[in-house]
Amino acid sequence: MTVSFEGRVAAITGAGGGLGRSYALELASRGAKIVVNDLGGDEFGSGGSTDMANAVVDEIRAAGGEAVANFGDISKYETGTSMAKAAIDNFGRLDVLICNAGILRDVSFGKMTEEDWDIIFSVHVKGMFNAVHNAWPHMREQGYGRIMLTSSTSGVWGNFGQTNYGAAKTAMLGFMNSLKHEGQKYDIKINALTPAAGTRLTATVLTEEWLDKAKPEFVTPLVTYLVSENCPDSGSIYHAGMGRYHRTALMRGPVTEVDTDEIKTAEWMEDNWDQISSLENPEAMWDGRTTQAEYDAARKK
Ligand code: NAD
Repeated sequence: MTVSFEGRVAAITGAGGGLGRSYALELASRGAKIVVNDLGGDEFGSGGSTDMANAVVDEIRAAGGEAVANFGDISKYETGTSMAKAAIDNFGRLDVLICNAGILRDVSFGKMTEEDWDIIFSVHVKGMFNAVHNAWPHMREQGYGRIMLTSSTSGVWGNFGQTNYGAAKTAMLGFMNSLKHEGQKYDIKINALTPAAGTRLTATVLTEEWLDKAKPEFVTPLVTYLVSENCPDSGSIYHAGMGRYHRTALMRGPVTEVDTDEIKTAEWMEDNWDQISSLENPEAMWDGRTTQAEYDAARKK
């Protein structure tokens, strides 16, 4: 195995089922010691039990790996603290963090309640903050970290009935775009995933046939590589599911440069709209014209 996690410690939120469980089993089989966090509630965010996290810990141990359970709701700051503490107390470090815990509250916008909005932001966005904020000091101190955030195609392209979920999943991309800069000098890399897999979450919206075909195990190899020492990326979004893998990026169209001695009018914009709105030869920012070096040079020291 060239993609090894020997000596590495990984914490995974929502690892008691679905995709998170599959990541935990695979990373453990490659030598990582795992902190399995899970609330053990249902797919809409209700309830809670220790069973799901314990079951995955048992599976890892039965296969000869090392793991500990971390119970609780990642939308609470103290769960992020206890998860990082579990990694340090049991295994001495924290190298990999996968923010995976998630729920759905799908409903058309007119029928959405304030609670539907708040709980989605609590679990996905605040939960991500809680996990990363508590892992960060350990990763900085070690000079090493690999973080993967779980976004969604809903956060990139949108989806009917998911204004809450889609907005939260886009927020994760904004978080990544800024934090990648702060992690760079400590060798902390942070990337995002848009998965597609048959799990109890997707069972609420997709057909049996699709669910059967889209095994979480198709997603896991890409995630395994993405959080490994071998992967050079930071600040990237990848899609994985059902035998399809690709990178997704925010792109910028060609820049229309104007004479800055004169302010243009709205009519000028209208006249030149084809050129301004063009996406011909787009560039992915960061590795397009705005390279890391250009970014650094433009910042106040
Ligand atoms: P899943 O329901 O099988 O797994 C989610 C896990 O998170 C569950 O084990 C659940 O108990 C746990 N969890 C939920 N709320 C939690 C909380 N507050 N604290 C701790 N644990 C909590 O669903 P999944 O499909 O494996 O989803 C994993 C992630 O992938 C989610 O973030 C989801 O939004 C995202 N996602 C999944 C798909 C897909 O096709 N399955 C697509 C896009 C995004």
